[in-house]
Amino acid sequence: MNTQQQTGIMNQAPATRHWSLSIDVDALASLHLDVDGSSTNVLSAEVLGEFEQLLEYIETQTVNGLMIVSDKSSGFIAGADIKEFTRIQNEQEALQLIQRGQTLFDRLEALSIPTISVINGFCVGGGLELALACDYRIALDQPKTRIGLPEVKLGIHPGFGGSMRLNRLIGAVSAMSLMLTGRTVDARQAKRLGIIDYAVPDRQLSSAASAMLKTSPKPRRASFLKALQSNTLLRPMLSWLFRRQVAKQASPNQYPAPYALIDVWQLYAGSERAMLDAEARSAAKLIITDTSKNLVRVFMLQERLKSLGKQRDSSLNAVNHVHVVGAGTMGGDIASWSALRNLSVTLQDREAKFIAPSIKRASKLFNRKFKPARLAHAAMDRLHPDLQGIGIKQADVIIEAIVENAEIKQDLFKSLESQCKPDAILATNTSSIPLETLNQVLQQPERLVGIHFFNPVARMQLVEIVSAANTSPQVVSAAAAFVRQIDRLPLPVKSAPGFLINRILMPYLLEAVELLSEGVPAEVIDQTATDFGMPMGPIRLADTVGLDICLSVANILADQLNMQVPVILKQKVDDNHLGKKSGQGFYDYQPSRFKLKQTQKSMEHPPEDVEDRLILRMLNECIACLREEVIEDADLLDAGMVFATGFAPFTGGPMHYLHNRGRDSVMQRLTELESRYGERFHPDPGWTQRLV
Ligand code: NAD
Repeated sequence: MNTQQQTGIMNQAPATRHWSLSIDVDALASLHLDVDGSSTNVLSAEVLGEFEQLLEYIETQTVNGLMIVSDKSSGFIAGADIKEFTRIQNEQEALQLIQRGQTLFDRLEALSIPTISVINGFCVGGGLELALACDYRIALDQPKTRIGLPEVKLGIHPGFGGSMRLNRLIGAVSAMSLMLTGRTVDARQAKRLGIIDYAVPDRQLSSAASAMLKTSPKPRRASFLKALQSNTLLRPMLSWLFRRQVAKQASPNQYPAPYALIDVWQLYAGSERAMLDAEARSAAKLIITDTSKNLVRVFMLQERLKSLGKQRDSSLNAVNHVHVVGAGTMGGDIASWSALRNLSVTLQDREAKFIAPSIKRASKLFNRKFKPARLAHAAMDRLHPDLQGIGIKQADVIIEAIVENAEIKQDLFKSLESQCKPDAILATNTSSIPLETLNQVLQQPERLVGIHFFNPVARMQLVEIVSAANTSPQVVSAAAAFVRQIDRLPLPVKSAPGFLINRILMPYLLEAVELLSEGVPAEVIDQTATDFGMPMGPIRLADTVGLDICLSVANILADQLNMQVPVILKQKVDDNHLGKKSGQGFYDYQPSRFKLKQTQKSMEHPPEDVEDRLILRMLNECIACLREEVIEDADLLDAGMVFATGFAPFTGGPMHYLHNRGRDSVMQRLTELESRYGERFHPDPGWTQRLV
């Protein structure tokens, strides 16, 4: 609001902690939100209470318009305060809270003066619901602007009038598509969809907002044709289509929220008032479901992982330059991802021909992620092929991603240590070599840390931060801070065979292959896992990762953890049936696009134990990891499994699932499975230690 001449905060305005009110010479009022004690603006009960008092005050004033502005540079409003969700006891309490929010936003909408929200970054959930209750919305035209109603990701749908108002503003097809997927859009897309009136650069944001208030054009509404989408006759057919789309992603038992939203729209979209009432009642029911509570838990776990990246030792400098050695599948992608996240990167390999494919992949990634093209060019300029290893001397982080061979890696680390800056982070991406083996050749073994990315780097959010007993805690927190800097989630784990994620995943994959050898069709095994809530079945996952990679990890773990590797897996690799990449694995793939050839194999009477055989082997390994302290606690284990493997988020993670199903009954079931299928189901000693 720098361009406005302000007359200062009015004396009579109620004293508030989070909001401030100013009125300029043109009698345009501005309400500034800067939530005290929080880096982002969230709509807690207290923030909404103050907003209510201020609206009441504004209603008594002679002003020509109202602008709602965020004073946080991070963005506009991130939505409701999710911590408050966890305190809601019952549906009645939820309904009262939601109705209070609705009444408040109705009051904002009913103001007799023109109103506008000035969106300077993210504007999601309750933040957008507030903005939708204004006559106009204007947003900063920058990539950081994200606009949407992603409530389904927390197992609910909008409740403060957002469903009704977004439908009214842009028509049901676009509105429902946004709300049912929880997708957010940038300012330009929001403008195209009609959610905002203008997308403008920073320097014009406040003058454009004032101009809109002064000229006060007719507020937008969906065009006649779009409004027709909510017509009584069309609703049943569109609802059927919405349900069909949603069913491809989520089952109604596990994720009821999108289905509930469709019901609300189908039954009540004919009347604004009825839709508002139905929206509130439905959201109140959803907020107390186990799914919503578990998804809120997953959200909180994500916040915890993010916070692990904030505990950086202040004596260490921020990372500007990353040097990656090994430009293969992993090294190439780690380098391009770091460049995408604004770091200067040098990428080293033995010969130029090994680097070239990575640069090509990077260019594809940048072009996909960045519009306009100049941003993709800028990212490309940050990524430098470096055959001589010139970058080693300047790098703040050096990541090794060369062949999985301990001696070759040791030689490399000796050479890196002698050249790098004294405070540079020295990291390995090894999947299986103990950190103690690699760090023993260093002058300062405490410097080496594992930064274990998963494949594909651009899609996998989680990164394991691996430490040996002698790794310096400062190096571990600096590595976690670096991982946050490149927008990934750090999970600290101990250097132990398979670390955490591969170790837990492997028994599940091996049990799936075992079932296959017993004659259970791959389709039946995969369907059982996806019905449980896994994003992809284990057989398809093995084919996607590559059966050679699965076999090599399985062999390493089998030696160290006394596991049996099914013969059929070895046979497949011997026959060069490596999965998707070779066109054939446990499934066949169409050669042109590496797509699964459709098969319809089923089984009349699949064995009843399939689900428990898959899931309980995983849970048993989770308990073993907790007992061996591979991970600090059960919550972090859940976070790791949800963000690395997509373990059924609606369950809140494997340990939470175990807790809800009943620890003793799961242990008893393992004993039953052991008597039927053998020692691999023997409950880990950790079960009797009550680790969960
Ligand atoms: P890769 O075979 O695709 O790439 C290795 C690259 O390192 C090759 O380009 C090779 O030329 C280069 N290289 C070998 N020796 C070198 C040296 N002395 N100096 C410079 N470059 C050298 O291998 P990858 O799959 O990218 O795996 C790399 C590392 O990442 C391994 O430690 C592996 O265990 C780990 N990892 C792999 C995956 C995966 O899914 N592929 C996942 C996580 C971790």
